[in-house]
Amino acid sequence: MFHVKHIAPHILLINPWITDFSAYNFWIKPLGLLRITSLLRENGFRVTLIDCLDFSIKRRKYEDGKFLKTKIDKPHPLKSVPRNYSQYGIPEEMLLKRFSMLEEKPDIIGITSGMTYWYPGVFKLIEITKKLFKNVPIILGGIYAALCYEHAKKHSGVDIVFNGKEELEALKLISDLTNFELRTPNSLPAGASAQAGELRTNLYPAFDLYPQLDDICIATSKGCPFRCTYCASPFLTKGFSRRDPLKVVDEIDYWANKYGVNNIAFYDDALLIEPSKHFIPIMKEVIRRGISCNFHTPNAIHIREIDEQVADLLFRSGFKTIRLGFETSNEATQIETGGKVDNQEFRQAINNLKKAGYSTEEIGVYIMVGLPGQRVGEAREAIAFVKETGANPMLVEYSPIPHTPLFEKARKMSQFDIENEPLFHNNSILPCQWDGFTMADNRRLKEGLRRK
Ligand code: SF4
Repeated sequence: MFHVKHIAPHILLINPWITDFSAYNFWIKPLGLLRITSLLRENGFRVTLIDCLDFSIKRRKYEDGKFLKTKIDKPHPLKSVPRNYSQYGIPEEMLLKRFSMLEEKPDIIGITSGMTYWYPGVFKLIEITKKLFKNVPIILGGIYAALCYEHAKKHSGVDIVFNGKEELEALKLISDLTNFELRTPNSLPAGASAQAGELRTNLYPAFDLYPQLDDICIATSKGCPFRCTYCASPFLTKGFSRRDPLKVVDEIDYWANKYGVNNIAFYDDALLIEPSKHFIPIMKEVIRRGISCNFHTPNAIHIREIDEQVADLLFRSGFKTIRLGFETSNEATQIETGGKVDNQEFRQAINNLKKAGYSTEEIGVYIMVGLPGQRVGEAREAIAFVKETGANPMLVEYSPIPHTPLFEKARKMSQFDIENEPLFHNNSILPCQWDGFTMADNRRLKEGLRRK
């Protein structure tokens, strides 16, 4: 008699800690990793998911909140920054306990990654897993791996750095590495698009693996038709595609009614583009089915598309957190950086949102500060402009992102070696500070907003 230990390979997937000067849980979930989890399960793999960020404290009304943080030593390149540096998420002992509870050693470990400058948390996790699970191949994917591929290959210590753009490619990679035959082999590339995969399988991300599910995120589209010079969306995602509006509503319905989820964050880069074909039918159907949820747009939505009907649907369907990607009121900068909106369109959108029922406090407007060569006066003007229209300005410090058109300009003017050290992409250090826009200027702007 022969003994088969197991047939289906066991894949351990992990979302690592954040390491930073600050971090806040705006409904953060590793959506790509959760989609891969679903694909693997559908194809017969056994999957264990560990989300190191699934440990928030001080939950607020809409389930956003602070992460548990553990103060850690600053990485050497950031030593001179006069702020505490922390690891956000579950305590290390808890992670080790989760590992010790695994019934079986994994056959493959897949680790995702977020912002480029969060790599110390990723590397620490890799170090721990390598020690515990000797000789188990580790694949590193996610945003850092895609944007800083060479850095990750050189320094991460993993076996494979995955910089594919589609989840189906990850499935194919794991299938090849484990020599495990897929149940749905016809779902695989050559060249199959994620959208095609989604339409065929209609799989939902594996949120059901969370022990307690209060909030989820959803992506109704992939990519963005704009090409803003500071944004990595065009590099990270091939083209622009959207899901069938009714299937999107089915998914919202599923999580809201089967799992009692009350808060859903839209992760789309371009939720509102051509609203008559997408956003409007989705939200009309949400209202028609009587789905009651709080919706949030932490990634910002396109201002130009907010006409009276869209504003009204945002309000009536339950969007509680509205964030608009305005960035600047300087018309030359607007055009230079991609032309996604102008001041007239912005005013009109704010009027429409107010008419629909939103208060000033509820309309959060992102203003990007510290762009290469930007003067503090430009940021002051943008703040004043947003206030005057009756919305709530929120400052976002510019982070230089590799493979974006603006990166080269940032590299030339930054006092930090942003080309070779991703830690210097951290927006908290104001990577493109200069005499015309200093850290002190930035502090004063922020204090001014807090005093309002
Ligand atoms: S519109 Fe938004 S998502 Fe699209 S490229 Fe510009 S910043 Fe990126």
